[in-house]
Parts: sequence; C-alpha cells; structure tokens
Amino acid sequence: MSEKTLAIIKPDAVKKRVIGRIIQRIEDEGFNILGLKMVKLSLEEAKQFYSVHKEKPFFNGLTEFMSSGPVVVMLLEGENAIKHWREVMGATNPAEARPGTLRREFGFSIERNAVHGSDSSQTAQTEIKFFFN
Ligand code: UDP
Ligand code: MG
Repeated sequence: MSEKTLAIIKPDAVKKRVIGRIIQRIEDEGFNILGLKMVKLSLEEAKQFYSVHKEKPFFNGLTEFMSSGPVVVMLLEGENAIKHWREVMGATNPAEARPGTLRREFGFSIERNAVHGSDSSQTAQTEIKFFFN
C-alpha cells in the first residue's frame, strides 16, 4: 500500500554537509519525494512539533537542538513508506543502529541522530500537515 511519511534531515546532518548523501539514499530506496524544503524552526515550533515528548527528560535539549540550525523537511511517498523510512533511518541511538542505516552512518548521539521519521499513519498525517499544506 502506498503511503506518505515525513522525513527531516536534522541540524547536525545539515552542518556535516551530508544532505546530498541522505537524499541520494532516499532516492536509491525508491521513495518519491513529493515535497522538500529547508526551514529554520523557532524554539516554539520545535516544541509544537515534538509536543508528544513534552514530559520527557530530553524535551528541552531536543527542541533546542532542533531549532539550532536549518533542517531539510521532506514529504516522502512509497510502499509502506512509514516503516520503510524508519528502517532506513535505524534505531534512535546511533550506537544501537544497524550498520548501513543513516543514523549509524551519520548520527552523533541519541539526540543528534541525523534524521527524523514519522512513527505511525496518525503521526505522519499530523507531521505532514505541520510542514506542508
Ligand atoms: N531523543 C533524545 N534522547 C532520548 C530519546 C530521544 O534526545 O533519550 C531525541 C532524538 O533526537 C529522537 C527524538 O528525541 O530522534 C524523538 O524521540 P523518539 O523516541 O520519538 O525517537 P525516534 O522516533 O526519532 O526514533
Ligand atoms: Mg518518534
């Protein structure tokens, strides 16, 4: 079943100049990129985007990090795109992510882990609306 998901290249990966390599991987994996833009989130926008995590101990660090520099936001489409993209990203902690995943290759820490992906069809819908109308 074809579905849509939201992908973000996080500020750490933009600073490392690996936008191109990540987008190449996305295309090699067969996703269609339906939308793409670079944006700089305000702290308030980052807090809104990650509001499901507002009670977590990592919320402040995460939202400061996500608003610390530009990010590249993409609307991806493909067969089982949500699960497929999360498999390509790898585990949240780059140290635990499988070799060949983007987080293993480009992530720096459990916080600065290079990429974001929606985790369900419900969050995909909400997250896509947040960035693309
Ligand atoms: N995060 C963090 N510390 C943690 C867990 C998560 O800083 O202990 C950050 C990390 O950038 C992660 C984001 O918060 O990507 C959202 O966490 P989630 O559990 O939703 O992981 P994801 O869905 O991104 O794999
Ligand atoms: Mg998540």
